[in-house]
Amino acid sequence: GSQVVDRKVDSVCPFCGVGCLITYNVRAGKIVSVDGRDGPANHGRLCVKGRFGYDYVHHEQRLTRPLIRKAGVPKDDGTAPRPQDWREVFREATWEEALELAAGKLRGLRDQYGPKSLAGFGSAKGSNEEAYLFQKLVRTGFRSNNVDHCTRLCHASSVAALLEGVGSGAVSNQVNDVENADLIIVIGSNPTANHPVAATWMKNAAKRGTKIVLADPRITDLGRHAWRVMQFKADTDVAMLNALIHAVIEEGLANETFVRERTANFEALRENVKGYSPEAMAPICGVPAQVLREVARAYATAKGAMILWGMGVSQHVHGTDNARCLIALASVAGQIGKPGSGLHPLRGQNNVQGASDAGLIPMMFPNYQRVDNAGAREWFQKFWNTPLDDRPGYTVVEIMHKALADDSDPHKIRGMYIMGENPAMSDPDLNHARHALASLEHLVVQDLFMTETAWLADVVLPASAWPEKTGTVSNTDRMVQLGKRAIDPPGDAKPDLWILQEMARRIGLDWNYEGEECGVAAIYDEMRQAMHAAIKGITWERLQRESSVTYPCLSEDDPGQPVVFTESFPTADGRVKLVPADIIPADERPDAQFPYVLITGRQLEHWHTGSMTRRAAVLDAIEPMATASMNGSDMQKLGLQPGDVVTVRSRRGEVAIHLRRDDGTPAGAVFIPFAYYEAAANLMTNPVLDPFGKIPEFKYCAVQVVPG
Ligand code: SF4
Repeated sequence: GSQVVDRKVDSVCPFCGVGCLITYNVRAGKIVSVDGRDGPANHGRLCVKGRFGYDYVHHEQRLTRPLIRKAGVPKDDGTAPRPQDWREVFREATWEEALELAAGKLRGLRDQYGPKSLAGFGSAKGSNEEAYLFQKLVRTGFRSNNVDHCTRLCHASSVAALLEGVGSGAVSNQVNDVENADLIIVIGSNPTANHPVAATWMKNAAKRGTKIVLADPRITDLGRHAWRVMQFKADTDVAMLNALIHAVIEEGLANETFVRERTANFEALRENVKGYSPEAMAPICGVPAQVLREVARAYATAKGAMILWGMGVSQHVHGTDNARCLIALASVAGQIGKPGSGLHPLRGQNNVQGASDAGLIPMMFPNYQRVDNAGAREWFQKFWNTPLDDRPGYTVVEIMHKALADDSDPHKIRGMYIMGENPAMSDPDLNHARHALASLEHLVVQDLFMTETAWLADVVLPASAWPEKTGTVSNTDRMVQLGKRAIDPPGDAKPDLWILQEMARRIGLDWNYEGEECGVAAIYDEMRQAMHAAIKGITWERLQRESSVTYPCLSEDDPGQPVVFTESFPTADGRVKLVPADIIPADERPDAQFPYVLITGRQLEHWHTGSMTRRAAVLDAIEPMATASMNGSDMQKLGLQPGDVVTVRSRRGEVAIHLRRDDGTPAGAVFIPFAYYEAAANLMTNPVLDPFGKIPEFKYCAVQVVPG
């Protein structure tokens, strides 16, 4: 920040769900640096991504003109070598031509094959207003509920369990409430890499005496600050968590008042965990019975205790069961509904909370109103003045299957509109997903770069980056936060709200949002009405003044509610529903041919599929290439050294990748981040789904590791 700048513009970090407030420093139309602002989630702190990950917006590979696939160029689904330059595949076009083609083809498919022949993926990287408009476009323009986004790959199972158990999918307490906790359990999450500023709150709490319990198959950096580390065997979450619940109940440490007054179904839970004593579960989960009992006692007797979790919990075929166990554990111990006691599924993307709230999901309208609830549907039919589909749409992975369905299937998906997501990198079993995308009759992709997904498009629409537009995003703490436009998009690239409205008009919708910045304030206000009470008190004007307001926020003088469920739960009977869970093994276990477990995830410097951070000079310089982490004992067994190239192969695909020694990764497993297109981890992952959240099992599949 010491450079001379023309302008300072307040915004929000575009990477993770922590939602650090930032200031862009702008000189001659370019961002030259970023400062941390004193936001409620960050108090001036930033991680390396927030501080240095801004120059992707000025990268020479930004798309600056609409593109149309040249006639006769086949779609490369990974089976043939890709040309070096996208100009061999696409030609530049005017907006008029590209929009007419993009919308005209989708409209034509809808009219010929019916509404179910189309689907849309919106983005948790876009603003709330973009998410709201996108789902409205699909529901009212495509006329079906086939709309989803990467929440399906993230916390869909956590949200399924939370809606069922406590009646709301959002966090009960904010991250910095760990200040008020005596003990925190961090499970299936690597916050120092993936929520770095949130991790600082945890480490600062530990310094003041809060006990951290890290429960994870991989011992990550937070382990250095932990009071106890429970390195459980991958896939044994339910065994370990049921053992904790068993110990709390059978040692007489349950909070009887809370159980009696605020829960339902306790007897069934108690009966179910009888067979899960710590002593019986220790050999299964690999955590000594003594440690399980110590942790159970400390958790149940703490004055305040929080549980924070990540994808390690959610991305399993038993992801919903894992989250049910966490809800049950918190409830029997009475560790929810007060400051310092609660449940916090750490949201990954900067706006995955907000995009879900805004209705970017196939079974719910905005604010989690089910599409198959007649009352909710009638309300939205009136609100949007159009008939609506009464059946939930397909989810992310289901849409890929439906793209490859038989011609006779009336629900075969033939056309898609993808805004700001990169399923050709982020979906499980990429060979299948890329084949599905390539087989569409018409694919429209709206993005900043020629992503792996855009390569498969018929029309590519050049969009705007976060600092190039004004909008709101909602972080993991339920804070609605405002970002203002700092710079203009390059060339002919356009704001996404503009593109969405142009597409909608050509699909036949009569939209009319007026005002600055593509009518963003009018769109926000419409969304606020659709969300009913939740953000009623968070007006556009208030956001201009305050930058960040927590919801629920019922009126303009409501400061927002950081802790919820203090009186009752938003369930039908006001109580937590306890749901017993039993052990369901991973879909694909290691065997003689594929003896290792592949665990995928993220790393500090790179964000998701890498399209932004790998084009940020500092971040790319720190972590320039893909690596697979392996325990030293396994490397010795295989005669491998750090830096060696190995082939990691599953039944579905393989990558060649350099080895990195990491003794925190358990023996028998290999960890690969999914950010690298040249060694795409998701070529190998298993697309099998959790039956409730429809989330794929990214955290567990069987692979072989061979030299060279
Ligand atoms: Fe951005 Fe998250 Fe880092 Fe904060 S912690 S600077 S929101 S990536």
